[in-house]
Amino acid sequence: MEAVPPECVEALREAEKRLVNSYAPYSGVHVAAAVVDEEGRIHVGVNVENASLGLTICAERAAIAAMVAAGGRRPRCVAIVSDAPQPLPPCGACRQVIAEFAGPDTPIASRSAATGETRLWTLGELLPHAFTPRHISGSGGGEEAGLSRPRPPGGRGG
Ligand SMILES: [Zn+2]
Repeated sequence: MEAVPPECVEALREAEKRLVNSYAPYSGVHVAAAVVDEEGRIHVGVNVENASLGLTICAERAAIAAMVAAGGRRPRCVAIVSDAPQPLPPCGACRQVIAEFAGPDTPIASRSAATGETRLWTLGELLPHAFTPRHISGSGGGEEAGLSRPRPPGGRGG
């Protein structure tokens, strides 16, 4: 196994602590994710399943939403911990949501709490040729779109 990047070590630990809060009565697969933002803060999410099944929210997207709500915009690492027997990669939807904020070199570390096995990818490996804010013309011109924040009152308009 490749060495887990230092920014991911604590995130894996935090995700594992929260695994107990995962709400997964239907699949029985409990997942927690932790995102390290540009200031080194860690934002955690767990999967939240729903009786409708289709409205289930993955841990990775919940963690990204928590990061954004806290003002973070640039993930340095996305860590995933589950009780599945192998390290789970993020699903396609989560890869796309991570790519809204993270670059192709962003490490994605995943651990099975059941076996202790850890896998490491980059976002670019999991989602090559990602569709990103850069591809939306008029969104502010690419990278800045990922940092979008409301204009302050009285601030300059665009
Ligand atoms: Zn997902």
